[in-house]
Amino acid sequence: MTAYPEHRSHTRLFVLSGPSGAGKSTLIHKALALEPNCVASISATTRAPRGQEQNGVDYDFCSEEEFQALINDDLLLEYAQVFGKHFYGTPKKFIEEQFADGKNVIMDIDVQGAMQIRKRMPDDAVLIFVTPPTQEILEQRLRDRGTDDAVAIGKRLETAAQEIAQWKDYDYLIINDDVDVAVAQLRNILGSARLRIDW
Ligand code: 5GP
Repeated sequence: MTAYPEHRSHTRLFVLSGPSGAGKSTLIHKALALEPNCVASISATTRAPRGQEQNGVDYDFCSEEEFQALINDDLLLEYAQVFGKHFYGTPKKFIEEQFADGKNVIMDIDVQGAMQIRKRMPDDAVLIFVTPPTQEILEQRLRDRGTDDAVAIGKRLETAAQEIAQWKDYDYLIINDDVDVAVAQLRNILGSARLRIDW
């Protein structure tokens, strides 16, 4: 038999960023249910758990001292202080374990973190920006969520404008109008990454 070319199995980091209210977590959740070879990264953070969030599932919740130790021991692939408040970072070990297991990793991290990943793992990272279609739709979604008052919503919209300004630094753009369409688009990106020639 004469062998024809075949794809090399190459695990990757699919990095999603975008303003809160863009629907990133729903998107990731729905895509993961359909993609058996993908898992979600679990970040370390200094913020306190919210609602039903569980330690080790949604985040590794830790103290400022514990987070500083992760930085000092070079255990984080990237980290950032998000909204000038709490620290968030991606533990290297989890990513290494998933890659060793042949799994792709999907992560929801801010723009500063995404740029660090691009620099550190240029061949392994696919950067995807997720945005709501318009500011008015984002505003409506934040209102419907009912967790913020008018002042907080105004602040979120301001932050969103700053974040959205960075979309051109990403490889792909998903405009999340209809979540099922957005899930299909994310899966298209995962699928084309599998077909890339990168020996
Ligand atoms: P939240 O506190 O609402 O869960 O997340 C706030 C922000 O932190 C989101 O924009 C999310 O993308 C970002 N974030 C979550 N985990 C990480 C991480 O490991 N690294 C970085 N750089 N940002 C993160």
